[in-house]
This record gives sequence, structure tokens and C-alpha cells, in this order.
Amino acid sequence: MDGVDLDEGGAPRSILVVEDNVLMRKLFVRCLEEGGYAVVEAESALDVIDMMRESPPDLVVMDIVMPGLSGVELIKQIRADADLRAIKVVAVTNLATPADKRRLADAGFDGHVSKPIKPKEFLTSIAGFIEPMGPA
Ligand code: MN
Repeated sequence: MDGVDLDEGGAPRSILVVEDNVLMRKLFVRCLEEGGYAVVEAESALDVIDMMRESPPDLVVMDIVMPGLSGVELIKQIRADADLRAIKVVAVTNLATPADKRRLADAGFDGHVSKPIKPKEFLTSIAGFIEPMGPA
């Protein structure tokens, strides 16, 4: 937990990471934890709706290309759910053409971070959606 000032008083904000690639997922998780977030991970999109209902995260960071249920299909389910639709969801993907970005925005993503990630820039991008610590 380097870089976290425990005297700040607030509670860490929670991020749900949805990514099927284990190495990529571990990288995101480690990076976000070092940035001071409380992180929960899902290796498949299939359980995510249930996980979000049980414990709504402050932000979801989501891969797009996943077996079973893609990120685009999952975001449509989230945006159609009255209890979950207000939660911010960011796509992390190498689908980065202007057409891809428009398709992701149209599907309901709040933003887009390109793969491959660089940890420092990744944290800066994520902090633009939500800061690591909530109010005291
Ligand atoms: Mn994937």
C-alpha cells in the first residue's frame, strides 16, 4: 500500500475489475491497489451483475473481449438495470479506432482507457473518473 496516506481519514473507493486475462487482471488489480483503491476482481462478465447487486462498486473497469459475455453485452445489461445504471463503467481495451470508441460510448461506457496500460498513466486516467479516497 505504498503511497497511501492513512491519516487522510476517508475510506478507499471501490473498483470492480472485470478482465478474463489473468496476467492483465493481476496487473490492473496491483496497480489500482497501489493507487489506494479497494479492488474486487471478476474473471468473467457472467457473475458481474450479481456481484454489483451484492456490493455496488464506485467504479467498474472492464475488458471488452471476453468469452461467454462480452463487455459490450454486459454494459447493456448494466445500463438497463434500474439499480445499477448510475454506476460509472470504464472500458479498458485495445479496440481504439474512432469507430470502436463511438461504439463503446453508444453502448453506455463512461470512458475508455487503451491497452497496453502504463501503470502511472492508467492511475491518472482512473483518477479522472474517481479519486482513490472518499470524503472523511
Ligand atoms: Mn479479454
